[in-house]
Amino acid sequence: MPGKRSYLGAVLTSRCPRCREGKIFLSNHAYSKNSVKMHDACPACGQPTEIEVGFYYGTGYVSYALSIGLLVASFIAWKLLIGVTFSVDDNRIFYWMGFAFLLLLLLQPVLMRFSRILWLSWFVSYDPNWQTRKPREAERINKDQANNW
Ligand SMILES: [Zn+2]
Repeated sequence: MPGKRSYLGAVLTSRCPRCREGKIFLSNHAYSKNSVKMHDACPACGQPTEIEVGFYYGTGYVSYALSIGLLVASFIAWKLLIGVTFSVDDNRIFYWMGFAFLLLLLLQPVLMRFSRILWLSWFVSYDPNWQTRKPREAERINKDQANNW
């Protein structure tokens, strides 16, 4: 049922922000090879996934912010579930550091995909008439301007 998916639902299932139907990534799994490879355009509505040259450079900041959020959340969870003190003979904070490091490492592919989808969704808004209306052309993707970067 087109148009029934929420913004969050689209983001969480890695779908195009314009139609919330088409899957943006070539692969369905974050842990497969080339899992951040995207279709050039949304398979459902034709929305270009790279709006301009170098569009995804900014996702570094998004995944950084997501990582910080995860660190904070894991620390709070650790403190509640296991307990953390800053005394010299309490090693639990170091266990948390190890845990957090591993967690971030393991979640890296998920974070990378997620930050790309989030990033795209901040620039492309939902179009209820995506089935009949054409997507806006990518503005600065043409080759003449590619060497601006
Ligand atoms: Zn789409």
